[in-house]
Amino acid sequence: MDPVGVAAAPPEAGPGPAWQSKCPWGAPNTTSISCSLADVMSEQLAKELQLEEENAAFPEVVAVAEGPFITGENIDTSSDLMLAQMLQMEFDREYDAQLRREEKKINGDSKVSISFENYRKVHPYDSDSSEDEVDWQDTRHDPYRADKPTTTPRKGFIGKGKDITTKHDEVVCGRKNTARMENFAPEFQVGDGIGMDLKLSNQVFNALKQHAYSEERRSARLHEKKEHSTAEKAVDPKTRLLLYKMVNAGMLETITGCISTGKESVVFHAYGGKSATEEKVIPPECAIKVFKTTLNEFKNRDKYIKDDYRFKDRFSKLNPRKIIRMWAEKEMHNLTRMQNAGIPCPQVVILKKHVLVMSFIGQDQVPAPKLKDVTLSSEDMKKAYYQILNMMQQLYKECNLVHADLSEYNMLWHDGKVWLIDVSQSVEPTHPHGLEFLFRDCRNVSQFFQKGGVSEALNERELFNAVSGFNITADNEVDFQAEIEALEKMNEDHVQNHGKKLSMFSSDGDPPIYDE
Ligand code: ADP
Ligand code: MN
Repeated sequence: MDPVGVAAAPPEAGPGPAWQSKCPWGAPNTTSISCSLADVMSEQLAKELQLEEENAAFPEVVAVAEGPFITGENIDTSSDLMLAQMLQMEFDREYDAQLRREEKKINGDSKVSISFENYRKVHPYDSDSSEDEVDWQDTRHDPYRADKPTTTPRKGFIGKGKDITTKHDEVVCGRKNTARMENFAPEFQVGDGIGMDLKLSNQVFNALKQHAYSEERRSARLHEKKEHSTAEKAVDPKTRLLLYKMVNAGMLETITGCISTGKESVVFHAYGGKSATEEKVIPPECAIKVFKTTLNEFKNRDKYIKDDYRFKDRFSKLNPRKIIRMWAEKEMHNLTRMQNAGIPCPQVVILKKHVLVMSFIGQDQVPAPKLKDVTLSSEDMKKAYYQILNMMQQLYKECNLVHADLSEYNMLWHDGKVWLIDVSQSVEPTHPHGLEFLFRDCRNVSQFFQKGGVSEALNERELFNAVSGFNITADNEVDFQAEIEALEKMNEDHVQNHGKKLSMFSSDGDPPIYDE
């Protein structure tokens, strides 16, 4: 195939105000946009229009300029791409230095010298020169820049007789290759070669092309959004890779940023992508809960999981990394139970190792506020209270679960109702400390609503009885607590002796199905 056909003229970026203001030679050739006087008066609109114009003129470059590459806070050494690029640059410099040494050695004192210019990795005009630093906008539209290298026509040669120049001519070919560099992705750094009568050998051009294409693919997938880099910092490289894979697989569209960094987990917001299977629909917005793989914080949670019979056999055999996965797994199973009971809570999308993807409670990247942060009308407050009372009962009776960390911190207000989240530590009521956890939950809920002015709110002991179905009559906290512990002990003894729990703990008496 005639390669000339490939060297199609690259699209010229239209002139826009962004560079005009910077370029003293800029020939104003703006596209006029007609609008009413009122519109002209609107500063907001003017800004928007300018942005729109800039975006149309330099779509990709604008994105790069905003990215972590150019902002003050970098250089972000946690980004693999960044590191690779930094290494590549270093390598190129060393390569060129070596090339210069060889050039010198070959030429020696000879009158005719050979130039290795074309083989340099870093073009002289591309290297750091703080003195006459020009920004890309000026360079791209430099009015003094040489005309585009001439290319041979389709027939493959120009001229006549002995003046004929074929497409294989080294100079023409080199120029053509240089011109073709403009077809590379705009964020691919090609230096000023295009405007400089640089002649690229086929070999160099092909290597460059390969590199440009793979760079393009990589950056399109992994660095779609600048937020990646900030989000990345919160997690270790292995987790990052796991998140990248989810984006790469198309399951997630983009991971926009971090919504919460807790002691035990980091939560990200993401836009959902496409599902691999037809049955499963990925929600338009997702929350990604990454359980931290540093163990320290999890040590004090042992009590939740160690005594949970669902995990008992596995606990002792597991290494620390697997125990953390188990937290994620627990959260997934508990959420599924709640979902099945119709309790408003995030819907599980997928679990991969210690990363749990679920539906996002909130909208347009804004998570629903926690109950502690939202000011509700007294009517809504009362509504929320009754809803929670109901949910606690459902959780206990239908899901056979005790939240175990229930408070205004783990309840979100969204769509006019309360949503329960954060259930990795939830246990079954027959857990050796299950009833104590329930009592603590009741205390948090009662206090919050009593302080919040809900006069109907039961006190913690009444609430405990209402949720569990027990009828503990102690009228003070200490005695009440003692009775709870006695109940737990009774159950433990029963399990020890008879291998099963007491029936009064759960409504149906059957052990829950725990599917692996
Ligand atoms: P932890 O408290 O253990 O760090 P959480 O599950 O409570 O973990 O999540 C921390 C915070 O992240 C929550 O308080 C909430 O603001 C946000 N969050 C968690 N899951 C979701 C979700 N599915 N939708 C919206 N926000 C969420
Ligand atoms: Mn929480």
